[in-house]
Amino acid sequence: MFSTIEKPILIAGPCSAESEEQLDCITKELATTRQVDLLRAGIWKPRTRPGSFEGVGEIGLNWLAKVGKKYGIPTTTEVANIKHVEQALKAGIDVLWIGARTTVNPFSVQEIADALQGVKVPVMIKNPINPDLNLWVGAIERIRNAGITEIAAIHRGFSSYEKTKFRNIPKWGIPVELMQLFPEIPIICDPSHIGGARDLISSVSQKALDMNMSGLMIETHHKPDQALSDAKQQITPARLTDILNELVIRNPNPAKGTDYILDDLRSKIDEIDEDLINNLARRFEVIDKIGAYKKDNNMTILQIERWFEILSSRKKSGSSKGLRDEFIDEVLKSIHKESVYQQTNILNRD
Ligand code: PEP
Ligand code: MN
Repeated sequence: MFSTIEKPILIAGPCSAESEEQLDCITKELATTRQVDLLRAGIWKPRTRPGSFEGVGEIGLNWLAKVGKKYGIPTTTEVANIKHVEQALKAGIDVLWIGARTTVNPFSVQEIADALQGVKVPVMIKNPINPDLNLWVGAIERIRNAGITEIAAIHRGFSSYEKTKFRNIPKWGIPVELMQLFPEIPIICDPSHIGGARDLISSVSQKALDMNMSGLMIETHHKPDQALSDAKQQITPARLTDILNELVIRNPNPAKGTDYILDDLRSKIDEIDEDLINNLARRFEVIDKIGAYKKDNNMTILQIERWFEILSSRKKSGSSKGLRDEFIDEVLKSIHKESVYQQTNILNRD
């Protein structure tokens, strides 16, 4: 499924299924764009507080499946427990997704994984609400261990007390780490839940494509202001088409030998990295000598004034060359940690 779709994969549809007419109306408009690969609609809605619209429930599955067939678009919905999985599969929903509030809970993910044992259905796994890469990884592993081979991840941002313009802060480094751990798993960005506002959909989508993500999941409603959930972030199919037309799709991986300018710049980077490693090795040879000297002269490994002096002089030098303080700080802390480790080994050597 995911590997056969031309990138970027586009998932669109309302936050929630509200009625058969609503789904029909939205899907009809989406179908005319000919760009939608998967039709989304929430059937059971996890709401922060009771009393808000909690989804239409099982009946909506049949509307979704029917409308998907009518317009020739495969369908997807969120499942949070065994009952949801069974009912969604029975209704013929093509792809399932696990929501952010479920990914945080290994018990729930395992329950879903057990229900999926022996079933052939693609599954998408949203990041957990909190910025914890391992919970996301763990959920992917549980679903994979159940025998599901077609897996995608969805990046929908992370909850935080920090006040930003986003509903859920993107923290792009986390999906990038996931990409490195599972290069074969496509990551789809959900700018609707990251932004939480219509006017952020376009910029977050562009950023996701620039980060080489494989697709976008965008909440779409024919009358966004009247949507029963997430009204502020839903856009019309017409607006979706405009956003898609404005997105710049950049080349992710020009083959070696086809772009000489890039090849040349990359070989410069290779050389510089080699120099960096040689310099680090030289630095640690000196550390060895310092460690032995401190041991012979009964001195402590850590001398805090010296460390502060290193931090401040290197930051000053870095900033004069346009390098950010935070970056120099991170690099030096990592080098310093390794030198303390090395000197501790020397101290403990007989
Ligand atoms: C949704 O996609 O409508 C949804 C509830 O998303 P999330 O799990 O990311 O909050
Ligand atoms: Mn939503």
